[in-house]
Amino acid sequence: MEKLEQLYEGKAKKVFKTDEPELYIVDYKDDATALNGLKKGTIHNKGIINNRVTNHLMKLLEADGVPTHFVEELSDRETLVKKVTIIPLEVIVRNIAAGSLSKRLGLPEGAKLQSTVLEFCYKDDALGDPMVNEYHIAALGVATKEELGKIAEYSFHVNRFLTDYLKDVGIELIDFKLEFGKTTDGTIVLADEISPDTCRFWDSKTHEKLDKDRFRRDMGGEEDAYKEIMKRLLGE
Ligand code: 5GP
Repeated sequence: MEKLEQLYEGKAKKVFKTDEPELYIVDYKDDATALNGLKKGTIHNKGIINNRVTNHLMKLLEADGVPTHFVEELSDRETLVKKVTIIPLEVIVRNIAAGSLSKRLGLPEGAKLQSTVLEFCYKDDALGDPMVNEYHIAALGVATKEELGKIAEYSFHVNRFLTDYLKDVGIELIDFKLEFGKTTDGTIVLADEISPDTCRFWDSKTHEKLDKDRFRRDMGGEEDAYKEIMKRLLGE
């Protein structure tokens, strides 16, 4: 497998073409951003942890029936994935109030929700990723009703699976963001990453934050938090 030219550089990852037309290589960086790119920094070895944690979870999800873009881990920071067109939606699943939901609805962080919340944001940095509903998504032509149905079904499946899996290692899954892509044959698959960058992970007993909120909120200890997630999930 040959790594060819860079196709794209995002805030946390680079994507490269390969000599196989249907396969890309994702390369994870240590760069960290928050507040829509206004706050910038690095978290030592974040790229390695996010790559390995994402792949571990994607493999488990694939085995549990959620189609993913994962093909093979190539190195600490590099993963072979299926070529997809990313559907420009951030799909957010929430079990407990936190972050922007707490602000918007005036709920204290940590408040129990009576049912799971599913939100969609339209991925557009210039617009600040505005929240959209199924009517906006249809009106913009971002996804068909059928595709959105699949996305919602997979997102709830991911939530059920991860909530149970993480409970066993003493982590409460507060909320998380997923992205989906479409392969050349039109199949919807889970793409992007599942990591402390994209999930709120709280220690089940102490409620200590073990995720990117430590960086976003200048709390410190983000490197140790990422390492702790790696240790609990991969035993390393
Ligand atoms: P909130 O809307 O409360 O800021 O975020 C909800 C969840 O989605 C959190 O777990 C957060 O990590 C994730 N999330 C939302 N938007 C983004 C984003 O633009 N980048 C990343 N990495 N995660 C996001």
